[in-house]
Amino acid sequence: MIAAACIIANAAAQQLLNGKGPSVVGADFNNLVTHPEGHHFATAPYTQVPLEVHSLPPFQGFEALQLGDRSTLVSTHRALQRLRSLVDSWPDGVLVCDFESLHIYEWNTAARHLIDARGSAIEGSRLPQWLLSSDRRALQRRIRQDLAKQGDTLRHNLTLHNDTPVEITLVPMRDTDATSLIAVLRDRRPYLDHLHTVKRKLAKAEEMISQDALTGLLNRLGFEQAIEEFMVEARHDKPFALMIADIDHFKDINDTHGHQLGDEALKVVAARLAEQLRDDDAVARYGGEEFCILMAIPGTRVVDIAERMRHAVSATPIGLADGSRLTLTISIGATYYQPALSAEAMFERADAALYEAKEYGRNRTVMLQPLPVTAADEEE
Ligand code: GH3
Ligand code: MG
Ligand code: MG
Repeated sequence: MIAAACIIANAAAQQLLNGKGPSVVGADFNNLVTHPEGHHFATAPYTQVPLEVHSLPPFQGFEALQLGDRSTLVSTHRALQRLRSLVDSWPDGVLVCDFESLHIYEWNTAARHLIDARGSAIEGSRLPQWLLSSDRRALQRRIRQDLAKQGDTLRHNLTLHNDTPVEITLVPMRDTDATSLIAVLRDRRPYLDHLHTVKRKLAKAEEMISQDALTGLLNRLGFEQAIEEFMVEARHDKPFALMIADIDHFKDINDTHGHQLGDEALKVVAARLAEQLRDDDAVARYGGEEFCILMAIPGTRVVDIAERMRHAVSATPIGLADGSRLTLTISIGATYYQPALSAEAMFERADAALYEAKEYGRNRTVMLQPLPVTAADEEE
């Protein structure tokens, strides 16, 4: 730039270079502007105004300069840069493409990472190219049908070509001459992982509230849920038996050998009963030393199976500290599904059968005869 004193400065030049300070006339121009960046750009150090400097044709033999204020341009540029770095540091992927052709022309860092491609590969590629092929048509159809008609935002879950599950939000952006489509990609993996953990915990909690802590069998709540399920199946031609097994003279076992051995006995009986079950059967510790068993078997098989369970229990005595063995016996009351019976009525009948088994001397199975079918039942 010129190393010379200013001879003339108009009011605007004075304002830009030194504001209300002393007149710039007579001052060395090189002291009035600093950091000439390239040809035209400079800053006025006294006012901090960013300037654009243009040479004009010489004026009366002197060098003439036109000074322009670049403040607005500079602040717009800075605002754009801030916006750009905001979009770039945004955790969601952002892509901008042409609404019609879906060719991508802008993207941020997160988008590049999500779709797992280099910038040069994204430039000019089409958005659907980065989706799993099975998801491409659905998205294009939704853009054509939903977005083109309603014109507002569209949300859609899909999978990228690299198997990353994402939620895509599409927003049309109308410019003066063209319409763009902004696509925001959100990684769904953290959400899906969280969902998986919550589901697992929920399943565990559900299991715990329906499980008996001592024996690992179902508890009373678990039994009540199970019998309702058996009732539903029974109405679809899958009748079932309900058996209540109660340990004989259990109070004496507790009194003679202690509560701890009583607990041990409960676990042994629970294990013997569980061993006799198949996958679709259910066994619960209904309370104290009382167990309920549900089995979808023919009515003619109930007593046989109950007897097998009873023998399994008495055949495995518990070893005591003094080397002797304690034989446990159970009494079983059984009943069979009949359409006229509710779950509660079935339970009462099995309990009445158990009472008879105890009355007749314990260590036996009693099954009540089916109720006579009434006219009302036949109408059903
Ligand atoms: P019956 O042959 O008529 O069934 O006689 P019983 O002694 O088995 O029946 P009773 O109902 O008189 O006694 C049941 C006992 O079971 C009383 C109670 O202390 C004991 N009991 C209930 N729950 C538990 C438990 O969780 N652990 C232990 N060790 N004992 C329990
Ligand atoms: Mg008992
Ligand atoms: Mg009892």
